[in-house]
Amino acid sequence: MSGGATGLLAGKRAVVTGGANPRGIGAAIVELFLAQGASVAAFDSAYPAAPQPVALDRRVNLHCDVASIASCDQAVEATISALGGIDILVNNAGIVAATRIWDMRDDEFRRMIEVNLTGTYNITQAALPTLMQSERRPAIVNLGSTAALRGGGLLGGSHYAASKGGVISFTKALARELGPRGIRANCVAPGIIETDMTLGKFGEDWERDLKQGIPLQRFGSPTEVAQAILFLASDLSSYSTGIVVDVNGGFHIH
Ligand code: NDP
Repeated sequence: MSGGATGLLAGKRAVVTGGANPRGIGAAIVELFLAQGASVAAFDSAYPAAPQPVALDRRVNLHCDVASIASCDQAVEATISALGGIDILVNNAGIVAATRIWDMRDDEFRRMIEVNLTGTYNITQAALPTLMQSERRPAIVNLGSTAALRGGGLLGGSHYAASKGGVISFTKALARELGPRGIRANCVAPGIIETDMTLGKFGEDWERDLKQGIPLQRFGSPTEVAQAILFLASDLSSYSTGIVVDVNGGFHIH
């Protein structure tokens, strides 16, 4: 499927989770990866559970609920059949909620961890055997969040912050364990990005004040996050592992 492609990811086979929402970060990653020559399996719970993947040039869309081990195993198996292997795994699928701790239900907290953190573990575990066989400089890129670094979201969301903090720690541990096996693992931590997760959530006045508090005076775009992910997924970052790249306009500076 990768014949003749050129670009930073030419010849690489990538899995991107959460790729179905056309306005989301996942869709921007898929688009950029395809433009850079990769073959891409886009996984999403929103895709129908069809018996055969839909092959669109170098793209395959597959149903996958990252919270389900069986679903991850099936989607990875279908990817190997369609693409022959996996060299890049981007764990982008995620959910968000702004619940205050005093309103938090136990099931809500658990679901957040199950999708964002355990989901990242599930798909990584499913893809690991084939990643370890890759001879194309394999890389894992996980989606953290500024919320994990600055003590939560703007409207609460301790469960979200905890899940993303877990993803960052998980990534660093993967980097140590998998480095000797030739696999790099890194994280991108976006700030406020204009997607369905954030648009219309703040109200006009608050949005204006928020932007004024960001050194670059605006929210980010999904493509700007995808560009950082491209760097970490490609050989451009061949000596980087265990790092967290902030894409937040200066909203959080360490
Ligand atoms: P979106 O909600 O726009 O997209 C997330 C995608 O993941 C959707 O297509 C969603 O499908 C899918 N998804 C949700 N749950 C599952 C699941 N269990 N299995 C498989 N797919 C699932 O989010 P964004 O594009 O804004 O965010 C992408 C990533 O970036 C997330 O991990 C998020 O936490 C992170 N991030 C985003 C920020 C932002 O400001 N937008 C800031 C910091 C981090 P469906 O729509 O059907 O639920």
